Amino acid sequence: MRPILELLPEELPGEGYRRAQIAHWLYARGALDFAEMTDLPKGMREALSKEWRISEFALVEAYPSRDGSVKYLFTLLDGKKTEAVYMPYPNRKTVCLSSMVGCPAGCTFCATGALGFGRNLTAAEILAQILAIAHHQGISPREIRNVVLMGMGEPLLNLGNVLKAIRTMLHPKGLAMSPRRITLSTVGIPKGIYRLAEEDLGVRLALSLHAPDDETRRKIIPTAQRYPVAEILEAVRHYYAKTKRRVTFEYTLLKGLNDHPWQARLLAKLLKGLSAHVNLIPFNPWEGAPVVGTPKAGILAFAEELKRLGVPTSIRWSRGRDVGAACGQLALKTPTSLTFTPLLEDAGR
Ligand code: SF4
Repeated sequence: MRPILELLPEELPGEGYRRAQIAHWLYARGALDFAEMTDLPKGMREALSKEWRISEFALVEAYPSRDGSVKYLFTLLDGKKTEAVYMPYPNRKTVCLSSMVGCPAGCTFCATGALGFGRNLTAAEILAQILAIAHHQGISPREIRNVVLMGMGEPLLNLGNVLKAIRTMLHPKGLAMSPRRITLSTVGIPKGIYRLAEEDLGVRLALSLHAPDDETRRKIIPTAQRYPVAEILEAVRHYYAKTKRRVTFEYTLLKGLNDHPWQARLLAKLLKGLSAHVNLIPFNPWEGAPVVGTPKAGILAFAEELKRLGVPTSIRWSRGRDVGAACGQLALKTPTSLTFTPLLEDAGR
């Protein structure tokens, strides 16, 4: 069976208005089974379910957090696992999606990096995360208005599939999202940033900088050996010039590594002239992590120093800490060590 979510809405099977009906069932109604598409002729529904599948997961496990967010662990059809997080806010519903199983980047502070690289996710597997979350939450997929590609994986190393998924997210007959509500987070792959700028989709870029100097960065982000900060920032400047979208700089504070006042000052200097926002992220510890997070007082001091130097800064206190919301944490554990709700077993296959 072929994955129907690989198709753009205009490529869906059937004639014009049948295509629109299928797209509506998938992305507005959140159908995970062709049998639900009751305004299609029975013969067509049967033919569709013989040829196509909607769900990309053998199993979906949900781990609700006390703060209202829900972490999802997806078992893909080949048995590999990936994750996503649902974060409801009073005025919006956000999902954090994965683009890979594991990650080849190997950042030392990241639980996903410790897993190593499994494989790239297909466009269908990226979109299926939204559909499965909406189904579990009992909402339309179109009610999810914010997407951050910040889960497992480096999206710019799987850019073809990520772009394909984003096109369906943006498509008026797909998830009809605003490009400003989609954020792609990268550890800094200049070639990928240039390509994303050329695609001109208008999505937001978040750069996981984590250190303003190459020496520190190389200690915590292996890809920094290949891409110096100056080269990455040049690509980011190009992205900003092309898209006029403010770039977010992600910065996980690690004790004694990247939390010195001189690093705050260097960061402020680097960001001069760039429309940028710094998101300071308290480290979310995981078992076996080789680094330690900066204590709260240090985080506040680092933020103050940046603000004093005129850098728009916020602290992103992590959600879902009680269920291991830092990406990769669930896959590192055995699910039985946490409460879980099996769902959609064999759905739509
Ligand atoms: S921080 Fe991002 S790029 Fe680095 S290992 Fe984790 S998932 Fe990969």
